[in-house]
This record gives sequence, structure tokens and C-alpha cells, in this order.
Amino acid sequence: MKLKDLEFKKLIPSDRIEKKVASLADQINKDYENKTPVFLPVLNGSFMFASDLLKDITVLCRVSFVKISSYSGTASTGQLKTLIGHDESLFGLDIIIVEDIVDSGLTLQKIMEDLKGRGAKSVEAVALLRKQSAREKNIEVKYVGFELDNEFVLGYGLDYDGLGRNLRDIYKQVLPSSEK
Ligand code: 5GP
Repeated sequence: MKLKDLEFKKLIPSDRIEKKVASLADQINKDYENKTPVFLPVLNGSFMFASDLLKDITVLCRVSFVKISSYSGTASTGQLKTLIGHDESLFGLDIIIVEDIVDSGLTLQKIMEDLKGRGAKSVEAVALLRKQSAREKNIEVKYVGFELDNEFVLGYGLDYDGLGRNLRDIYKQVLPSSEK
């Protein structure tokens, strides 16, 4: 599949995503059985994952969206914009950050620090995808769907230059043989 100047091929089909999302929700339902967590999906990329995950959550919960970005094109810029969204107090609450993908881990680290600073009782994260770079840096993500190499992916909420978020499967970039 070609999208603008880049070539992509299917990496994770929607039926595998669906099963994985259900199993992540199961784990969270067990761990938060007697709690009322607040889910904080990080927009824009996590909208589809969050929507599917939350339909499988059976514990009483709240949902509030946040937005932050460190990405430009296909590479992390390392530049973080500030976290915007949750104006209500999170003091004493159990927070679960919902991320589409953890790459450098900068975004997640920044959000976790911010929330702990606001007196959240506990802060955990659920990410559908985690790249090798985040594993090497030991970024703490309690619930992870799929482990990836350091490849650029799109679909299921993730974009390339604003395109491809609506795709139900996840695709990875096919690198020209000279860049492999
Ligand atoms: P990090 O701060 O961990 O480097 O990057 C996290 C954010 O960058 C993710 O929430 C996502 O929006 C974006 N991102 C990281 N890797 C990819 C990727 O392979 N594809 C796309 N489309 N976005 C990515």
C-alpha cells in the first residue's frame, strides 16, 4: 500500500488487534476490581484503541482526554508540547494513561511526572504498541499489547502526515533496501 511517498505493508490484522485489546481490558478489569480508575487517552493517535478498549472495561470508570505531541513526520523530535486537557482535579485518583504507541517514551514519562506532581494516587499506562527504544530505556508501561522493532507504523489511529488513522489494521513502513 502506498501513502504519499512511502510504501507500507500489513503488520497486525484487525482480528489480532481485537483479541489483544480484549485481553488488555481483562487484565485491567481484574487489577482495578474495587477501584474507579480515570482513563486518560492521549490524543490523537489513541482514539481508536481507547474506544475499543473502553468498551471491554467493566469496572466503574471515568474517561478524560489529553493531548501532547513530540512527533513530526516519521521521527520523534524530542520536543514536547505541554499536556492539555484534564482541568478537573486528579488528586487521590487512580489514573490509567492510554497510549497508542510508546517509542522514545518521552511523551509517557512527561505525562506520568505531570500527573504524579498533581497528587494522583497511582499512575499506570496501557499501550497497544511498544517499540524497542522504549524497552531499552525501561520506560514503565504496565500493560503492553504488541512489542515492535523500531519500525514506523500507521493505521488503527496512527497516522503518517495526518493520513491513515482510519485504517482498521496496522501497517509498517517498507524501507527501500538501501536503508534497511
Ligand atoms: P514517544 O514520545 O514515545 O517518542 O512518542 C510517542 C508518540 O509518538 C505516540 O503517541 C505517537 O503519536 C507517535 N509515534 C511514535 N511512533 C510512531 C509510529 O511508528 N507511527 C506513528 N504514526 N506515530 C508514532
